[in-house]
Amino acid sequence: MRLILCGPPGAGKGTQCKRIVDKYALTHLSSGDILRAERAGGTELGRKAQSYMDSGGLVPDDVIIGMMIGAIQKAAGRYVLDGFPRTLPQAEGLDKALQEAGEKVDAILNLLVDDPVIENRLTGRRSCPQCGRVYHIENLPPKVEGQCDQGCGRLVQRDDDKPDVVRNRLKTYHEQTEAVVGFYKAKGRSIINVDADRDIDEVTSAIFDELDAIKR
Ligand code: ADP
Ligand code: AMP
Repeated sequence: MRLILCGPPGAGKGTQCKRIVDKYALTHLSSGDILRAERAGGTELGRKAQSYMDSGGLVPDDVIIGMMIGAIQKAAGRYVLDGFPRTLPQAEGLDKALQEAGEKVDAILNLLVDDPVIENRLTGRRSCPQCGRVYHIENLPPKVEGQCDQGCGRLVQRDDDKPDVVRNRLKTYHEQTEAVVGFYKAKGRSIINVDADRDIDEVTSAIFDELDAIKR
């Protein structure tokens, strides 16, 4: 199964992807997680991405497209894309690579949440730098404050989850990323819209219902 999970930052893509990959045995390909790993490893790519990520802007398309197509090729047709494609050139780049490989995405899910809800979700988010799990200080607190439930150690607040960067990320989303859904619609692809302003488990069950129907 090849899936794309769209939606603004903070919509719950990472949270839902963790559940989707467990249930359907897929690889979670999060462009944000891959970039953060490159940064932590001090690679050339990580250094290139740094200033864009810290300001809430987007890393240049040529860097991202190469990085993600490489990751997709390794995932052997079983993956969920999270945070990619995020611009029209990225969507076109992905389309071209899939066409050349004779492959097609099985479903495009779009998580819908309004901006004021997102601001609270992002500023309250705490992440595990080791395993990538995400928590929320109110909505999804860890069992022990500040510690990952998996025993990895301390949770951190991402620098780009501070309020001024969050506002910039939302602006970037509306200016550059929202149009990606329109790109797929114009190509005649159906979009599965999911109301993501609900309890985390309710969102998961709505997504599983859709994906089970596709598998049948
Ligand atoms: P994204 O990957 O889309 O940026 P995340 O999955 O990291 O979003 O979620 C952002 C924050 O919102 C996290 O702190 C997460 O715990 C919380 N969250 C995710 N889904 C929900 C939901 N349905 N209701 C409330 N909080 C949520
Ligand atoms: P995320 O973890 O998806 O919230 O992404 C964190 C940051 O990484 C974004 O604010 C961007 O700076 C960068 N990033 C992640 N994915 C992409 C992408 N597909 N295109 C450009 N920049 C990206």
